[in-house]
Amino acid sequence: MATTTLRETAGPEETEVLGEELGRRLRKGDLVLLKGELGAGKTTFVRGIARGLGSEALVASPTFQLVRVYPGRIALAHVDLYRLESHSELAELGLDELLDAGAVVVEWGDRIEAPDAAVVVIEHRGGNHRLIRVTRDLPH
Ligand code: ADP
Ligand code: MG
Repeated sequence: MATTTLRETAGPEETEVLGEELGRRLRKGDLVLLKGELGAGKTTFVRGIARGLGSEALVASPTFQLVRVYPGRIALAHVDLYRLESHSELAELGLDELLDAGAVVVEWGDRIEAPDAAVVVIEHRGGNHRLIRVTRDLPH
């Protein structure tokens, strides 16, 4: 995903592969914001990111926790802000500490402000087709 910023995928596995490409490039301190409606494929993309980081963790939507950390080449904190209810919850998340410990990927990333973050937008394109756009790439 380094040079191409727009791709269409025809199924979840293809979306995972794009996530995997990004995951291989992640370094400690990187923040990735994922945007897209429910069922767009954000969690699927995170599954690929984890694979790209050499993690064998089972990636699922964190239902009750806001964050889960998967071990790998570097730690991956998987944040899902779908159920975020207040600013204090966001503060308790300790984003800075998570970034000190590894890379962070955030589903519903439009709910936070982060000028240095990479941004990936996933859109439905009918059936199993999705448009994946890297609207802001990693800084390296
Ligand atoms: P989100 O986290 O954005 O709510 P999920 O990744 O949990 O979305 O779910 C996406 C759903 O859409 C899954 O059931 C997945 O199998 C399906 N799907 C179908 N086609 C694609 C595709 N091209 N990319 C990603 N997911 C897809
Ligand atoms: Mg999800």
